Amino acid sequence: MALVQVFPKPRIFISRCIEFDACRWNGAMIGCDFVRALKPYIEPVTRCPEADIGLGVPRDPVRLVRQEGSLALYQVATGRFYTDEMRSYCSAEVARLGELDGAILKEKSPSCGNRDVKIYASADPKAAQNGKGRGLWAEALLSTYPDIPEENEGRLNNFTIREHFYTAIFTRAAFREAKAKGTMKDLVAFHTRNKLLFMACNQSVMRDLGRLVANHEQLPTPEVFAAYQALLPRIFQKIPRRGAVVNVLLHAFGYCSQQLESGERSHFLELLEAYQQGRLPLSACQTVLQSWIARFDQEYLRNQSFFQPYPPSLIDISDSGKGAGSARE
Ligand code: SF4
Repeated sequence: MALVQVFPKPRIFISRCIEFDACRWNGAMIGCDFVRALKPYIEPVTRCPEADIGLGVPRDPVRLVRQEGSLALYQVATGRFYTDEMRSYCSAEVARLGELDGAILKEKSPSCGNRDVKIYASADPKAAQNGKGRGLWAEALLSTYPDIPEENEGRLNNFTIREHFYTAIFTRAAFREAKAKGTMKDLVAFHTRNKLLFMACNQSVMRDLGRLVANHEQLPTPEVFAAYQALLPRIFQKIPRRGAVVNVLLHAFGYCSQQLESGERSHFLELLEAYQQGRLPLSACQTVLQSWIARFDQEYLRNQSFFQPYPPSLIDISDSGKGAGSARE
């Protein structure tokens, strides 16, 4: 019988102007379909550093400029620097955020941008752009939380990037839940449930995590949790390769293949080939496998997060690019 899966809510930092507040410099809010869809499934942690330091809404825009060897936040229209206010806000406020499972940052913002933020050569209004970097808030946030999955709303328009991000944040939330329960049994259950997912993402890290869970050294449970937590982010460092995902699908297929008709087997292998060539989304292969898992009552596979790493109502394969398949080439 199919289980109704309950997903623990990831704690996600989100720039407040994305779907939460009309706090941009021009008094607007960024409408974002996937953040709107995500809201019921997460615990959002939002800030608007520029509004919070008193720049007001609407306000004259600020920019990052080079000033005496470091980066400064400068408002061209008023000729004022806001670097000190922003840096003290960042160090005080980042420390108050608590545990996070991920971050969605506003792209290109001199405060929140996580990459490719324009940096100007000086405070001269006519100064040319001479580099790119991170906004001041993003820098403070990501140096305090170097391991969290972090993206901007522009990149998350791509299905493949978004799916990987969702997988990472919901897995981290599930780990936090296991850690809060705190027994080795909870850690073993977490690891077992994620085995196929980890196998698809990074087999070598999966084996290292497995060794930690086996705990041959008989370490105290909190130490095992701590070591596991330190290693877990490496699983999600890269979007899985299509070939690795196919291997996992074949592995799962092996649990059912004996009980299938030869026509069903060859149909599945054709689907796999189409997925490998990027002509079909991963979900097409997973759906067929899931129907067999239900038919043959495959308990081990039924509980694998690989088939449902995040709430299925968040699946929306429309995106800005071509990535309807869930892996790199
Ligand atoms: S990008 Fe950051 S600082 Fe700018 S409006 Fe959005 S939340 Fe505020």
